[in-house]
Amino acid sequence: MPKKVTLRMCVACRQRKEKEELLKVVRTLDGHLKLDKTYKSNGRGAYICKDEKCLEKCIKTKALNRALEAQVTDELIEELKQNL
Ligand SMILES: [Zn+2]
Repeated sequence: MPKKVTLRMCVACRQRKEKEELLKVVRTLDGHLKLDKTYKSNGRGAYICKDEKCLEKCIKTKALNRALEAQVTDELIEELKQNL
C-alpha cells in the first residue's frame, strides 16, 4: 500500500504540494503568526512554496495576511526568506 500523502496548497501560486516542499505559517491563539517548522502546531495554518517567487508574490498580494486574517510582520518575512 502506498503511503497516503496529504497535499497542501500554496497561498501564492495555488499549486498543491507535499508539505515538506512548503513553508507553514500558523496563527497562534494570541493572533500572532509564526513559522511552523514542525508542521504540527495548532491553530490556523497556511502554506507557501519554498520558492522566492511565491514568497514575493505573497508579500505583494498579501495572500498570507488574507489566508490567516492576521498581519504578516517584516520579521516573519525575513524568517521565511531564510528558510526557503
Ligand atoms: Zn507557490
